[in-house]
Amino acid sequence: MKPVFRFAPSPNGALHLGHVYSAALNAHMARQAGGRFLLRVEDIDMARCRPEHEAKMLEDLAWLGLAWETPVRRQSEHLADYAAALDVLRQAGLAYPSSLSRADVRRIVEASEADGMVWPRDPDGAPLFPGRDAGEEPGVDADDADVIWRLDVRAAVAHAWRTPGGWMETGRGPDGQTGWQEARPELWGDFILARRDAPASYHLAVVVDDALQGVTHVVRGMDLFHATGAHVLLQDLLGFSRPVYHHHDLILDGESGLKLSKSRGDTAIGQLRAGGMTAADVLRLAGAEFEDEV
Ligand code: GLU
Repeated sequence: MKPVFRFAPSPNGALHLGHVYSAALNAHMARQAGGRFLLRVEDIDMARCRPEHEAKMLEDLAWLGLAWETPVRRQSEHLADYAAALDVLRQAGLAYPSSLSRADVRRIVEASEADGMVWPRDPDGAPLFPGRDAGEEPGVDADDADVIWRLDVRAAVAHAWRTPGGWMETGRGPDGQTGWQEARPELWGDFILARRDAPASYHLAVVVDDALQGVTHVVRGMDLFHATGAHVLLQDLLGFSRPVYHHHDLILDGESGLKLSKSRGDTAIGQLRAGGMTAADVLRLAGAEFEDEV
């Protein structure tokens, strides 16, 4: 069986130099391993993703000289796969429905913080969900389209693991270490599995897709390092095998030092191209001129 790599951008804006680096590194590592390289369109967040962004994204990647297998998997075309995975978690009693909106959670958090409590936050800075007791309000109708499905993380960890779960990292963790990394899904609290405007959360969809596509190597930015703790927990709950992970450094904006963002339109490939750069120039600028060893 050949190793399988994938680059999985979300079509919610223009690709920037960070994407160039990640895509080119994936393609390079796939070639080095004699493996396959897939492209996956992560368009599950229907409120933010647009077909015109997808078309531009594919055009930019082809212009850079990358080649991927077709057909491309598009998440919006596979909702039944995510619903089936959610169902497994529901049947196991590990997913629960809540009608609390983000605004409701914000009110609960603000009220506690006004009382002097420091509310825990996830690695992205969002307040953790108050938990199943607060979330599973009496009378919530599980079939109501507006309910939000969450994973009971504490119960899920107890169900999946007798000893701490983790993964093999060929990049580096935040402490600079390569190799075994201990998963800490609890950092995310009872994270979302599905809601009306995103029938599968990023965490659920990415795990289902990687498994169904037989992905063996996940190569992606360091900003997703902590998300991997949630992913390996879901893999074990759903009986999927575990890819090897490689989290690479992010390209930061030279002036602000912030990570590049699609929404700020940072160094969009299209702009660089319109400004007269060649694909080789853009790859060089991204630090992505990987030499294949033969
Ligand atoms: N779709 C995610 C993003 O664009 C990447 C997901 C992944 O590589 O696991 O940030």
